[in-house]
Amino acid sequence: MGRATRGCGCAVAVLVVVVAAAGFATWKFVLPWWRTQPPPASGGDLTVRVLDVGPVNGDAILITSPSGKTVLIDAGDTTRGKTVVDVLKRNNIQQLDYFIATHPHPDHIGGSAEVFKVVKVLNVIDNGQTPSFPPGVAPSPSPAAGKKKPAPTPTPRRGGPPPVTKFYDDYKAALTASGAHYETARPGTKYDLGGGALLTVLAPSEPFFTREHMRTGGNEPNANSVVMRLDYGSFSMLLTGDAEEQTEHRLLTKELNLEARVLKVGHHGSKYASAGDFLQRVKPEFAIVSCGAWNRYGHPSQAVLDRLRAANANVKLYRTDLHGEITITTRGANDINVKSAKEPSEDAWAGRTAQKDDSTRSGFISYGDFGPPPRPPRPREQKSK
Ligand SMILES: [Zn+2]
Repeated sequence: MGRATRGCGCAVAVLVVVVAAAGFATWKFVLPWWRTQPPPASGGDLTVRVLDVGPVNGDAILITSPSGKTVLIDAGDTTRGKTVVDVLKRNNIQQLDYFIATHPHPDHIGGSAEVFKVVKVLNVIDNGQTPSFPPGVAPSPSPAAGKKKPAPTPTPRRGGPPPVTKFYDDYKAALTASGAHYETARPGTKYDLGGGALLTVLAPSEPFFTREHMRTGGNEPNANSVVMRLDYGSFSMLLTGDAEEQTEHRLLTKELNLEARVLKVGHHGSKYASAGDFLQRVKPEFAIVSCGAWNRYGHPSQAVLDRLRAANANVKLYRTDLHGEITITTRGANDINVKSAKEPSEDAWAGRTAQKDDSTRSGFISYGDFGPPPRPPRPREQKSK
């Protein structure tokens, strides 16, 4: 009897240990995994439109979720707000559930004020950064070192050129006037777009990149871009803004799911973004480059196009400068339908030649650099060369 009781006690103790170990494993491993899983796809259409906001560079991406929620990521350059508005009208969109400004550069938020004028915006997310002032453009006085005060906005001279931050001032004014809920992008934050579509913030993470981090190339406001992934069933897309190689390498050091079927190629296809090891990890089936035919920076770079093919020999490439607006539709199953506004008249796998370098290191400035684009070469001039 005594032996039987002892045996029973042992069994209970073993059971307690097993249950505790299973509980611990569930809490430690299963729960975090389960939390990262998007909800099941409803089977409705998710649409991602990469807008053609050329001919100078610019980004604007419109997402419509299966439940009808709308997200606009960036709004094109200052002169392209109307293009974005036209697309919203064409798709009968009177309200944006989210407007996401990836970073404070004019080719991303320049058109936002125009958009805010015509549609109701419920939520605005940005990286919380103010525009930085390159040497020679900095308004005086500069903020004292060590103080976290944002740089003061220069006062426009009567009859003089508008302040270099006009695009940013207009964005902030439009945001205030809209009454939208505002928050800064925090890695790990998930936005439920309904119907099984989920938008997750991956970057920026602190400490923010500074000029010092950009010695190998690239531009720090770009490197601090909001980066997100969109999941819907078996569909996934990485939305990179103008993230640079430094951003990508930081993402690689974190335990993140970076694999994605569709990649919005970072920084308009700049050679300072889309590092080989990053692309190997993402392994996109579709690569979308948003760039303007008249950009001076050689976007997309041939090196990036080669790296894309090295990561996946079968990757399908779409470019807004050649294909116009690109529309991706999926029901979250194994279906990805990509349509473009036009067929490319040139080889999409041929990169452009840079007239200007686009990194902080070489004195790249983001202001006053988006003036009249260079005249595109005439076919006859091309032939005679
Ligand atoms: Zn850009």
